[in-house]
Amino acid sequence: MTDWIAAAAALSPETRLFIDGDYRDAADGATLDSISPRDGSLFTRIAAGDTVDVDAAVRAASAAFESGVWSRADRRERQRVLIRLSELMLENLDELALLESLDSGHPIGDARRVDVPNAARTIRWYAEALDKIYDEVAPTPENALALVRREPLGVVGAVVPWNYPLIISAWKIGPALAAGNSVVLKPAENTSLSAIRLAGLAAEAGVPAGVFNVVPGYGRTAGQALGRHPLVDKVAFTGSPAVGKGFLTYAGESNGKQVSLELGGKSAQLVLADVEDLAACASSVAWGIFYNAGQTCHGGSRLIVDETVHDELVDEVLKVGRSLVLGDPLDELTQLGTIASGVQLDRVLGYTEVARSEGVSVHGGNRVRPTGLEDGFYVEPTVFDGVDNAGRIGQEEIFGPSLAVTTVRGVDEGIRVANESAYGLAASVWTQNITTALTTAQRLRAGTVWVNTFDVADVITPFGGVKQSGAGRDRSLHAFDAYTALKTTWIDLG
Ligand code: NAD
Repeated sequence: MTDWIAAAAALSPETRLFIDGDYRDAADGATLDSISPRDGSLFTRIAAGDTVDVDAAVRAASAAFESGVWSRADRRERQRVLIRLSELMLENLDELALLESLDSGHPIGDARRVDVPNAARTIRWYAEALDKIYDEVAPTPENALALVRREPLGVVGAVVPWNYPLIISAWKIGPALAAGNSVVLKPAENTSLSAIRLAGLAAEAGVPAGVFNVVPGYGRTAGQALGRHPLVDKVAFTGSPAVGKGFLTYAGESNGKQVSLELGGKSAQLVLADVEDLAACASSVAWGIFYNAGQTCHGGSRLIVDETVHDELVDEVLKVGRSLVLGDPLDELTQLGTIASGVQLDRVLGYTEVARSEGVSVHGGNRVRPTGLEDGFYVEPTVFDGVDNAGRIGQEEIFGPSLAVTTVRGVDEGIRVANESAYGLAASVWTQNITTALTTAQRLRAGTVWVNTFDVADVITPFGGVKQSGAGRDRSLHAFDAYTALKTTWIDLG
């Protein structure tokens, strides 16, 4: 732990915008405070981009796109450069992991084992796919030939949240850059450091100037400017439903740009009466919500459990929750780090009061003040038991280590309650019966359904939601659909 603290103290991170191949200050010199969630102190100040900076970045991206330096480059060249970027991320693993941990409060062990390798793998996977994807020839009459080819869209604006800064950025820039687009990335204001560093690594890898730009700044200024810019062809957004809907408005009021949205969830973990290994189930249920202190868009924040196994399962979940090592993100032994910001901390703690007002049994739900880190943003694992699924605790995305437990009788009621949500990002079902598993998976309205597990995922499978969890998919080859347009070329063969 001492080593990581020393490394953090010695760190002097790049904090400026990255536009057209160079780091620069915001045009008006504005900065925003980056507060360390570890101890609540001022960690550094980051350049705060605004409309003028976003305009400069978008114009650089557009000029690079039109020049063809990347958009029309041999795809093997784009492949080589992006694979090099992925390698550079791993060569700089400790630095990127430290930036991610300091900014977001992820435990350093998770940042090293999960965040950075996962993001690097995503970039590499899309690069490797580039010479394995074929276009189409349409079944025309014999006297014609119609080619259907994928082409890059142009300038992509990627607006990402603070819960997995590097991973979610990679989900967007991997396929967008591989397909030949230019990108302007707007990270969340409180977690911009890894994205800023990534821009430098991309340039080192050989991504040409203007093709990948990073403009940190506030959402209502920099984010909105990107959403409304007439030269942006597409916005890929992950974050809250309110802001996601705002991007649809920006698009409608500007150039009708394409918008894909990933807007979080209230994912149900449905446990049926026939589960045999309740301890294993409880461990999965607990990690499904408590990992990353519950700040996961598909986090399993609702446990919908059959009344016959409720008591034993909830006891086991509580045991797992109490056993987790909560504390300093810079300690390799820490399993549960911080909430990412003071605003989010207040939001999460506010739900403890909401739960009490709804007559729910509250286990945990308190702020924790570790010795020496008293002002950090720590919350203990929390179980709200006896939740009415229709109330606020059952319906609202808390985005903290908070599990809402609702008891049901039988599979039909379980599916009905699981589907009674405005969201539809993910769900799971636990049962020994294969037929019940498959029919339940079909009936659960969600983009991903896990059977007898939770949160097993990889870049190979699509990720995204139905209902208010958004539209469009990150990950897998399907993500190319979000960053390409189909071009038909019809040739008369006389
Ligand atoms: P948010 O939606 O406000 O922020 C996400 C991104 O959008 C950030 O980059 C932010 O700067 C930008 N943004 C914010 N306001 C904007 C605006 N008016 N115009 C353009 N861009 C804007 O998310 P938040 O406020 O940080 O978190 C609020 C809640 O959203 C959380 O409590 C959680 O429920 C949810 N959330 C979901 C996810 C997810 O992965 N789906 C991630 C983070 C937060």
